[in-house]
Amino acid sequence: MLARCSSGALRGLEAQAVTVEVDIAPGLPGLLMVGLADAAAQESRERVRAALRNAGLKVPLTRVVVNLAPADLPKAGPGFDLPIALGLLVASRQLAAERVEGVWSAGELGLDGGLRPIRGVLALALAAHRHGARALVVPAANAVEAALVAGLRVWGADHLSEVVTLLRDPWPARVPTPPRALAPAPGARADLAEVCGQHHGRRALEIAAAGGHHLLLVGAPGSGKTMLARRLAPLLPPLAHREALEVTQLHSVAGLLGEGAGLRQERPFRSPHHGCSAAALIGGGALPRPGELSLAHHGVLFLDELAEFRREVLDQLRQPLEEGELWISRARQRCRFPCRVLLVAATNPCPCGWYGDPSQSCRCGEAQRRRHWGRLSGPLLDRIDLQVVMRRPEARDLGSPYREGTPAAGETSAVVAGRVAAARQRMERRNREGLANGQLTGQALAGVVAPEPDALRLWERALSQRRLSARGAERVLRVARTIADLAGQARVSTAAIAEALGYRSFDRVD
Ligand SMILES: [Zn+2]
Repeated sequence: MLARCSSGALRGLEAQAVTVEVDIAPGLPGLLMVGLADAAAQESRERVRAALRNAGLKVPLTRVVVNLAPADLPKAGPGFDLPIALGLLVASRQLAAERVEGVWSAGELGLDGGLRPIRGVLALALAAHRHGARALVVPAANAVEAALVAGLRVWGADHLSEVVTLLRDPWPARVPTPPRALAPAPGARADLAEVCGQHHGRRALEIAAAGGHHLLLVGAPGSGKTMLARRLAPLLPPLAHREALEVTQLHSVAGLLGEGAGLRQERPFRSPHHGCSAAALIGGGALPRPGELSLAHHGVLFLDELAEFRREVLDQLRQPLEEGELWISRARQRCRFPCRVLLVAATNPCPCGWYGDPSQSCRCGEAQRRRHWGRLSGPLLDRIDLQVVMRRPEARDLGSPYREGTPAAGETSAVVAGRVAAARQRMERRNREGLANGQLTGQALAGVVAPEPDALRLWERALSQRRLSARGAERVLRVARTIADLAGQARVSTAAIAEALGYRSFDRVD
């Protein structure tokens, strides 16, 4: 007898429908798997047999063929255990065929019949809903994630026997649908109020958040580059539900969501090590998983010690940063991962780290410093609108709770986020497609800058005196537009241009 069960296979960020066909025919006992399953899926045979036996169900003592269709779609991982087991039960008449009709299932089986969580369940749930599934059965640890899809009935179970009981019962008395909205408790969030001094850096962070401008922080060790970078994401507007779903889906497909986790409502902050490979940054694997760049989607990608990253790794960031998405090609498939991120890069001013610092002298030679900057410049730096030099905070900035005259704490993140939100609303109303200023170029930018006559003259003078490149000059306008938006000004003033020019410390003539 032939049985069919529904499930899904991951393809990049999405899942595609897979039909698990189980055929029992006379012949020597054995289980054959066909249909492009990877090693983990092949091992399903052993797990399913043991799980059935230990759940008190019968293992057919005959020839069994399992086919995962469509055959040209690669299938990875242990998630097919559950639909294969259910197919075997239907084919051996231990479960009525109509009970599994329209029911999608996925989950890894332990040898004892227990159900273990798998990755990519949100993508699977979205696919099940798209295909009009009657219900989706998943391991209990994945149920909250699956239940994020509104309108889909989700059954979570801890054991195969639980699933069978549920499916045999025509009107399940207790349908274990998990609660729909579960947000992780907000942890102690890094706040801008804890950053002492650093007015220049704080201001740049605010502009970066408001306009969506990439940011470069240059400073000696201990100047607070990382501290500042960590405080960027909380300045951005809260994630829209659709964005939160995307972030959750990416982490789920990467296997980073965690058991029992629900919607990710915080903007991500990812900080890959400078030794990381291109695959770790961009994504990869035989069945591609998202890399750090995509895991930072809708959030902040922090590249500390930018000069230490391998050039060929950085080169691969250029196009995705511009396009907000990337493609990974494999022999049998092409996967798309979104990656709209705010980039914060940080670096020492020279190899020893102390160039330009008043407290210590730099030990590097001119040639070393030149080489250091040579590694940074070029295509990636070209996409960074804001360049900021940070000084280590001085003693009077730091203050002490035990001393009189402690400087007033800086503004809190909430106050700054309020200004950022107001500026973003202005951009949404004015800019084409509601884009942030950081994404405007050419005519789209020229059409909204509206400089005052004096401001225009200042910009033109700076262009010739500082020999700014065409791109560098455009960047000044882009940042000035954001500065004006933060101030609620319709036109860009001289002050805005002057401030924007201050964020171009490392422009080279190109
Ligand atoms: Zn040095």
